[in-house]
Amino acid sequence: MQYTEIMVRYGELSTKGKNRQSFIDRLAHNTRQALRDFPRLEIKAHRDRMHIKLNGTDSKAVTARLDRIFGIQNYSPTVRVEKEFAAAKQAAIALVKELFEPGMTFKVNTRRADHKFKYDTNQMNDLLGGAILEAFPGIKVQMKDPEILIRVEVRIDGIYLSLGKIKAAGGMPVGTAGKGMMMLSGGIDSPVAAYLAMKRGVEVEMVHFFSPPYTSEQALNKAKELTAKLTPYTGTIKFIEVPFTEIQETIKHNLPSGYLMTVQRRFMLRLTERIAEQRHGLAIFNGEALGQVASQTLESMAAINDVTTMPVIRPVVSLDKTEIIALAQKIGTFDLSIQPFEDCCTIFAPPAPKTKPRIERAREYEQRLDVDGLIDRALAGTKISAIHVGEQFLNQQQEEFADLL
Ligand code: ATP
Ligand code: MG
Repeated sequence: MQYTEIMVRYGELSTKGKNRQSFIDRLAHNTRQALRDFPRLEIKAHRDRMHIKLNGTDSKAVTARLDRIFGIQNYSPTVRVEKEFAAAKQAAIALVKELFEPGMTFKVNTRRADHKFKYDTNQMNDLLGGAILEAFPGIKVQMKDPEILIRVEVRIDGIYLSLGKIKAAGGMPVGTAGKGMMMLSGGIDSPVAAYLAMKRGVEVEMVHFFSPPYTSEQALNKAKELTAKLTPYTGTIKFIEVPFTEIQETIKHNLPSGYLMTVQRRFMLRLTERIAEQRHGLAIFNGEALGQVASQTLESMAAINDVTTMPVIRPVVSLDKTEIIALAQKIGTFDLSIQPFEDCCTIFAPPAPKTKPRIERAREYEQRLDVDGLIDRALAGTKISAIHVGEQFLNQQQEEFADLL
């Protein structure tokens, strides 16, 4: 079926009162960004819907992108024909053909904006319904919950026909909920947490800690590649890499091993807070869940969280690992997350981290360290880049090599 346009319906934003216009503007902006490489599209965002005119562009390629844009509730690939009954009939039959299997039920639902058109809605429903009954032996009319619903709109500039509504990503347009710093490791959880933050409209900037020479260039590239995998939901994502070697070495040399992990995490959080302040971020997001590993007890979270008053939001905190994995697979980060490039935490992981670290102890131990100096030097070494849709950071060979490990 050669569709001519896609009709897009907004989600929750319709209920957001006076913010509505800015939500629509942001959604239109995000949609244009996501579809930037389809030059023939004409995108118009109206108060209650967005219309994307295809002008010959393949509708499947476009809807694959729409599926990932937060703030879109559902959409309908639509075909526009001239305001002639014969043209509408032909298009309706072509649409039913897309889905028809013997014994299926259907219904035609016409709306009419152009009251001068020679048939009213009931007549259109009857005439088109009759034509479909004739064209598909065995098909049945059903008013309630038909399997095939043909929507027809008679407008001033033509007749528009579509098959039902296709459910999209929902959520809120990215950017409408302010900016947050996402602590992104190379693991499974933090990319999923980033996805969930974006789903609620947060513009995330990735903060990644790396420790050369203990961690490889590939580990850094893996975090960038994970970021690239999330760009289709939002366009470009900022990636902030923070050198963590000096901090980790210093902690390792000066502190008992039971507190290495807690204190490392406290430094990560302090640094992320400082970066958030510099970049006007309002909150910190991370991929902590409860109960997976030593760092993920409530005692441990409390001991780590002690260093900041900024909100620390943990979108996956109460998901089971299997639920997180299912989401990681859905968003396409799982296969990359399980590639075994060492990250800074694995390498400096103590053999037996405390599962119930004490806040006072962590504070005491840190008095042995030049906390401010360490933080300032790490911040000075920070690098920021912008990661765009479709960028690649690990080459095929590296990915294959990792497969063999
Ligand atoms: P993930 O799968 O996201 O790595 P995890 O289950 O392995 O999570 P931890 O290793 O305890 O859990 O890390 C908890 C959180 O701390 C991560 O989800 C991430 O938000 C943050 N974090 C850990 N390592 C880094 C890093 N190198 N850079 C940035 N953030 C990190
Ligand atoms: Mg991890």
